[in-house]
Amino acid sequence: MTPPPAGPAPLPADFVVRARHVLTMGPRGHLRDAAVAVVGGRIAAVDTTADVRARFADLPVVGDGGGILIPGLVSAHGHFSEGLVTGIGETHTLWEWFVRVVEPIEGHLTRDMAYVGTLLKAAELACSGVTTVADMFCSAAGTTPVTPGVVDALDAVGLRGDVSFGPADSANPRPVAAVLAEHAALADAARNSRRTTFRVGLATVPSSSDELLDETARLVAETGRLHVHLHEIREEVTASRTTRGTGSIEFAARRGLLDAQVVAAHCVWLDDTDVELLRRHRVAVAHCPVSNMILASGVCQVPRLLRDGLTVALGVDGAASNDSQNMLETMKIAALLQKVHHLQATALTAPTVLRMATIEGARALGLADEVGSLEVGKAADLVYLAEASPSLALVHDPYQAVVYCASPRDVTGVWVAGERVVVDGRLATVDLGPVLPWARELAVELASRAGLDSELRSAAAGPPVEVVPGAAR
Ligand SMILES: [Zn+2]
Repeated sequence: MTPPPAGPAPLPADFVVRARHVLTMGPRGHLRDAAVAVVGGRIAAVDTTADVRARFADLPVVGDGGGILIPGLVSAHGHFSEGLVTGIGETHTLWEWFVRVVEPIEGHLTRDMAYVGTLLKAAELACSGVTTVADMFCSAAGTTPVTPGVVDALDAVGLRGDVSFGPADSANPRPVAAVLAEHAALADAARNSRRTTFRVGLATVPSSSDELLDETARLVAETGRLHVHLHEIREEVTASRTTRGTGSIEFAARRGLLDAQVVAAHCVWLDDTDVELLRRHRVAVAHCPVSNMILASGVCQVPRLLRDGLTVALGVDGAASNDSQNMLETMKIAALLQKVHHLQATALTAPTVLRMATIEGARALGLADEVGSLEVGKAADLVYLAEASPSLALVHDPYQAVVYCASPRDVTGVWVAGERVVVDGRLATVDLGPVLPWARELAVELASRAGLDSELRSAAAGPPVEVVPGAAR
């Protein structure tokens, strides 16, 4: 099947959206009984509802005056390449999971699978309030590029994308020319897309040959942008030290890979030298607490990195290591993980977490002048959470309400550049009806071609149950 074209972008309508609480995540802070005017897809005013309505009296008004309005959320790290293999392999740590789940599928992903997997997961992201997503598609570079399927799907859903291809070639050597062709095809697709931009990707330093690292460094010097995993697990640091003499961060710095606008996923296993290198190179960290917990990778030192002045964003990570794509859940877990790890309730609080998911995420992707906060002149990327729900009926502190109480069912409106992509909790841009059976069909084909059947069977059978004598009585 050929992916249907995304079609021309509909003209965004001008409107005013009002709310009881507007969390601008910018210099205006928290405004009560306020509104945002959207004209031509951009924010034309942020002020009290009375002021905005007086200035824009002709525009239709969205919202009943209740609820919470926030900037669109930014997921700074993920893998749409895992869109069709969710919910398996939960008993594996990262390397086992990679070898048994991710690596087997890499050579079998097609452009249709990239398209449908992205449609599915981008829909899930949008319905949890995400308007900008940074992706690293990990597949085996072959004769036909597959990553343009990601761009087609993001265009169809209407999300803003920062897209990359994440090659690795040390375990399974591949011609670097094929890797470069995949990067070039993705860059071309992004150039012709509605809202995506291309970034050079690299899976990890230890999983790359010297030739791949050289070519990546050359591309990074040319484009000034890199998306890479750094120090996600202890084994990665050990592998890099034993094969190349230093950890991945030090090695990447020496090879010039950090002399760019870099998004580094995870950064869990850091010593003081690593932190100093990240700070000096202004590397933005994409913290992914859910996958770090599922894969038992470790706890990122978020409070320390923030104290040291690093940009720390949040990412949902791949659909096979999260396994949901729910950014509201990721925000809540980011706070909870630090609190329980430090045994300190102040370790990471709701306003900081919401900053990480909005303006810091935008900063991490080099988009802070365009999105991430509700400020006049920025793109109208907005999320409206209605208060007509059991979870948000009572809002004592809107930051805590968003981070700890809200769920996707409360997300009634999501706009990207003024275009409404979610209406009343449902995707408005793509009819998911035919997509769901198509996704199931491709997921079965992928699992079968990749030999994942035993993984699926063990997941279906469930974990071993410990029987306690006498417990049933
Ligand atoms: Zn990742």
